[in-house]
Amino acid sequence: MSQVYRSTRSASVQEVSFEEAIITGLAKDGGLFIPSQIPQAPKDFLKEWENLSFQELAFNIMRLYINENEIPDSDLRQLVTKSYSTFRSKDVTPLVKIDSKDNLHLLELFHGPTYAFKDVALQFVGNLFEFFLQRKNASKKEGEERDIITVVGATSGDTGSAAIYGLRNKKDVSVFIMYPTGRVSPLQEEQMTTVTDDNIHTFSVKGTFDDCQSLVKQVFADEEFNNTYHIGAVNSINWARILAQITYYFYSYFQLKKQIGSENFNVKYVVPSGNFGDILAGFYAKEMGLPIEKLVVATNENNILHRFISTGKYDKAPVKVTHSPAMDICVSSNFERFLWYMIRKTDGSNDDLKTGEIMSTFMSSLSSPKGEFTVSAETIQAARQFLDSASVSNEETVSTIKETYDNTTNKYILDPHSAVGITTCLKYIGAANDSPNTHYISLSTAHPAKFSEVVNLALSDFEGYSFEKDVLPEELRQLSTLPKKIRLIEHADLKTIESAIVEELSKEKK
Ligand SMILES: *Cc1c(COP(=O)(O)O)cnc(C)c1O
Repeated sequence: MSQVYRSTRSASVQEVSFEEAIITGLAKDGGLFIPSQIPQAPKDFLKEWENLSFQELAFNIMRLYINENEIPDSDLRQLVTKSYSTFRSKDVTPLVKIDSKDNLHLLELFHGPTYAFKDVALQFVGNLFEFFLQRKNASKKEGEERDIITVVGATSGDTGSAAIYGLRNKKDVSVFIMYPTGRVSPLQEEQMTTVTDDNIHTFSVKGTFDDCQSLVKQVFADEEFNNTYHIGAVNSINWARILAQITYYFYSYFQLKKQIGSENFNVKYVVPSGNFGDILAGFYAKEMGLPIEKLVVATNENNILHRFISTGKYDKAPVKVTHSPAMDICVSSNFERFLWYMIRKTDGSNDDLKTGEIMSTFMSSLSSPKGEFTVSAETIQAARQFLDSASVSNEETVSTIKETYDNTTNKYILDPHSAVGITTCLKYIGAANDSPNTHYISLSTAHPAKFSEVVNLALSDFEGYSFEKDVLPEELRQLSTLPKKIRLIEHADLKTIESAIVEELSKEKK
């Protein structure tokens, strides 16, 4: 089967290749790229894939979404192997038991270079960018201008470091990450600024995260600048990020089966969510044939997704600052992809173009002053076939970190994002009318060392607890001793940023 990509908003047929979907990121009509068809896993995959390594599984899944004439088998294998060689666990994403409950399991996604789940995707995206650029440039003649990408991004923490570690030292790629001075945690700042590779640049910008994000938008909108420097993004709507995340749903399913030693089980996945990228990969896994009973959206007090699933109304609200900052969002950008499939199943009458038309109307309503839209009863019904949800408060987050530490034999320490997931599990286990063989896999999205303030708030009263000894890995402890590369930006305006970018680019050894 040949695989092409289309936009969630197009009301006419405009298909693009995998490469174009990855390099451009966003469709011209403002929509998100989705595969023209969701491929099915092979008929006997539950047997055939059961004993594959994470890397072999990733290859088999990605192969179904990328045509062989775009990336041949040997290259795709190499990309996958290289991307996951940087992980500290041989399983890449190990499944561990939370022994305070019989049927509760934690999928640890934080064993990559920056200790957060975004590495699973961004390690792959970095290698993919390099692969496409190298191939384009290999066919150029002496003296002909090379294809380059200048990635510009804003971060309030996790995405910046994961992007930096994904793109460091990649040929023909330069990276500029902006963050608000004094408003990211010291550890997160160290993670970003101690990468001194030639092609990596961190800008500490006097201002807020919104100022940084607005600068990024302005850089993108400056056509002349963009034409010269080929500005690119690696934000959460890039299709390659979703694709790379599908693997761990399959892998953890097989891990669970081995750990409980039975074929006879149901599984629900609980996913701490912000932009809906992580959980969306679970939706694709389910549609490919993986027997997932339910996906549960775990939100903090920024609970637009929970409100939507409860009411069918998607409405913006101001962002609150919570204990799980990587999930502090106003709207969930990837939700549009999931919604597209739900509309197509219902009001879209299985017609791609009619679905795109309905989606466009919803999205203009969302970006109008009204800031909301409501889907039909049929569409919300369809969404509820896939999703359950919960909203978790700061107090609950802290209590769960405490209780998990206290009630597990190995004194397990959760980070606040993972604690939002576990709190949601605890709300559902028992309350949902599950069968006795229903298991919960809760996704753990960050290492607790990255969020020392909340973890210490929860645990410092326990006798014998020490952050230094029990939480902080040696590798992160050492960051504070390494040389730093930062450029301070005093004035958050477009001209200042652009001239800083040009100056830094000229210093790179090509
Ligand atoms: C990005 C992030 C999330 C949210 O993931 P989405 O794909 O945006 O839903 C949750 N936890 C951590 C630690 C993250 O970095």
